[in-house]
Amino acid sequence: METNEVMERAEKVLMHTYGRYPLVLDHGEGMYLYDNDGKEYLDFAAGIGVFAIGYNNPDYNAALIEQIGKLTHTSNYYYNVPSTLAAEKFTKASGMDRVFFTNSGTEAVEGAIKLARKYYYNKKKKADSEIIAMNHSFHGRTMGAVAVTGTESYRIPFEPLIGNVKFAEYNDLQSVKDLVTDKTAAIIMETLQGEGGIHPATCEFLKGVRKLCDEKDILLILDEVQCGMGRTGKMFAYQSLGVTPDIVTCAKGLGSGVPVGAFGAKERVATALVPGDHGSTYGGNPFVCAAVSKVFDIFEEKNLLENANVVGDYLWEKLEEFAKKHSDIVVDHRGMKMMQGLEFKNDVHDTVKRGMDNGLITIAAGANVIRFLPPLIAEKKHVDEMIEKLEKSL
Ligand SMILES: *Cc1c(COP(=O)(O)O)cnc(C)c1O
Repeated sequence: METNEVMERAEKVLMHTYGRYPLVLDHGEGMYLYDNDGKEYLDFAAGIGVFAIGYNNPDYNAALIEQIGKLTHTSNYYYNVPSTLAAEKFTKASGMDRVFFTNSGTEAVEGAIKLARKYYYNKKKKADSEIIAMNHSFHGRTMGAVAVTGTESYRIPFEPLIGNVKFAEYNDLQSVKDLVTDKTAAIIMETLQGEGGIHPATCEFLKGVRKLCDEKDILLILDEVQCGMGRTGKMFAYQSLGVTPDIVTCAKGLGSGVPVGAFGAKERVATALVPGDHGSTYGGNPFVCAAVSKVFDIFEEKNLLENANVVGDYLWEKLEEFAKKHSDIVVDHRGMKMMQGLEFKNDVHDTVKRGMDNGLITIAAGANVIRFLPPLIAEKKHVDEMIEKLEKSL
């Protein structure tokens, strides 16, 4: 199909929930994507932080093909090897004791909320719990996740949502303390806010919230759907900040291309859910779990965490230089390792679009921030190429 024809036909039948760029993608290889006409793009968005291992990894493909030939789905009423291995690798990497696999990030957040509510219900024998979430947060598009998302335009048209949610200021411990009552079941936040414009939690804030949760038996839910899976140089961002949550959510990089998410929890919390409380037909089937399991193996074989640290530091250095050089239009540079953002004075969508003309894919976070979420296999030479193409796109 011709490129224009694809776009015209798609616009007629797909719901208009995305402002799509005029780009028809065909295939990927390592750090690069190729469009319908064969044009090459250096990819610093990775499908919104999904393709941690890069495109067309032969080991990953082989593991998936092998599993397709055996069994893709069984329902969760039986055991299978891939989900057992994936769960072992996930709990080891996250420091959690148990995991539930979902089909997406938003479902992981739904599950985390249900788990927190059930834990509270078991404790208090009352269904009146409250949740504290953060302004400018993003947790997904289903009703529970929307209810804890801090951007009003994402939330208000869809009300009434789940109730008893209050919003505090991110990195302002007092604003969290002010909202705590004896009904507070959980505090939910991203360890590093992604969609809201690349805002990392300060160590002081996160440790303060952890202490508050410990004192009041409140559960700390850290949403690492975007910042987890090596993006910040550790498997999970909280591991850099010396804090362990009671519940963690994960997705995006976890499947590196197949739809899978997860919420994990410490034993004393996880056991609040008993048979009948939660489930998913597809969730964590052998096909997606074969992918998850292979992704963890590839992290080890390719030393992706170490690479994320080395190349993440280099990306920081280069974006700092870039921000200084263009201080007339760039107002801030934030983030950690392979998850960074540049805040511009003006709307960045035209710059992102010109990047595509120049063979570079990045994504915006809100109106004024360009996000850099490269595959974790990126090398220094890719950072140099990205900076050169970004310069051209200003
Ligand atoms: C992307 C994202 C989600 C939602 O994940 P989906 O797979 O799109 O449902 C939730 N939380 C955070 C922090 C995210 O970045």
